[in-house]
Amino acid sequence: MSITRRSWRAIAAAAGLALLAATAPSAVAQTDQQVPERGLYHVRGADDAAKRTAVARTGVDVAGTENGALTVVANPAQAATLRANGFTVDQIGDFDALLKQRSVVPGQARSAQADEFPSGDEKYHTYTETTAELKQVVADHGDIAQLSSAGKSYEGRDLNVLKISDNAATDEDEPEVLFTCNQHAREHLTTEMCLHIAQRFTDGYASDPKIKEMVDGREIYLIPNVNPDGSEYDISGGEYQGWRKTRQPVPGSSEIGTDPNRNWDYQWGCCGGSSDQPGDEDYRGPSAFSEPETKAVADFISSRKFTAHIDFHTFSELVLWPYGFTEDDTAEGMTAEEAKRFQDVGKEMAGTNGYTPEQSSDLYITDGDVNDWAWGKHKILSYTFEMYPKSGGIDGFYPPDEQIEEQTTRNDQAVDILLREAG
Ligand SMILES: [Zn+2]
Repeated sequence: MSITRRSWRAIAAAAGLALLAATAPSAVAQTDQQVPERGLYHVRGADDAAKRTAVARTGVDVAGTENGALTVVANPAQAATLRANGFTVDQIGDFDALLKQRSVVPGQARSAQADEFPSGDEKYHTYTETTAELKQVVADHGDIAQLSSAGKSYEGRDLNVLKISDNAATDEDEPEVLFTCNQHAREHLTTEMCLHIAQRFTDGYASDPKIKEMVDGREIYLIPNVNPDGSEYDISGGEYQGWRKTRQPVPGSSEIGTDPNRNWDYQWGCCGGSSDQPGDEDYRGPSAFSEPETKAVADFISSRKFTAHIDFHTFSELVLWPYGFTEDDTAEGMTAEEAKRFQDVGKEMAGTNGYTPEQSSDLYITDGDVNDWAWGKHKILSYTFEMYPKSGGIDGFYPPDEQIEEQTTRNDQAVDILLREAG
């Protein structure tokens, strides 16, 4: 007699789903057809950094935090493992179904174009539109703005670099500040953040003495799309894909994409802060700087003398500083005095935008991220901002475009503080 689906259910009920889940994850999928392939969950019980790191290490995609709960995207086996490990796991919904819903504005036809945001979100800039906008900034303000490329993405897109400074064509002896956006593909609000900085410092130059002083005294560099292949893929077909990683195929695997923010060559893969499984959302890549995008941006950074940096992400409304690879405040290359400076400046910036300031590893351990590399290799005062919203489900990744102006303007003072600190 073969074991039918019904009898699997009976076995699962008798044995307790958690036990069965721990020993035979594949059977769980048979017992419950309602478990989505990619489910959005709240995970409770991960109330310290070690436990949150344990959650991340199951390979789930940790999207954000909410009142002590983690919002994660997980497959059925991962959800079962989390429950077996004692976490409370509440399903919010089917991630792919939510993505489809989010991609359609009632009463409006879905955009059929590959290179446009879903209807209703057109104020977001595609890579093509972002590039055009940067070219327009240079056309309007050629004396203080210059466009170049840090290199090419895997699919051959330019990694645009906008420089803003007085005498932009000249490499002057002024402190250099860097803003990077869109390492993670679906975090489109961050590209808007870089564009907002570009517009503010160029449009305001002639009329605002404070902006003129900052532009004259600094060399400001912006990279609005660190991962343009990923962000274009994320809106392909006029629907959000929920994509985080790059688009380079993983050698020896059927999987595509590496988490660029686990791919930087400082303590890469050292400490349980990334995954070696190509299918996982925080897969660190086959080697440090395996991704053309991180390699090119790292080479660009190394070619300059940056003193301060913000890497923009979404979401959770956090100001984070290194190190991510260790829970300790200090480590090799981070003295107590240096750690205190990160804390002081981080808290000052957070005081202006209402974000929560903390060391990156207070959230959970990450290794191979850009902040650890920028500080560890180059002593750059390097922060991550996790932007709006503070918490959420699917809208956490895709806030409506009505939020763009408010949520980018919200960081103006923090950006100014970073420019000051660069000196
Ligand atoms: Zn991110």
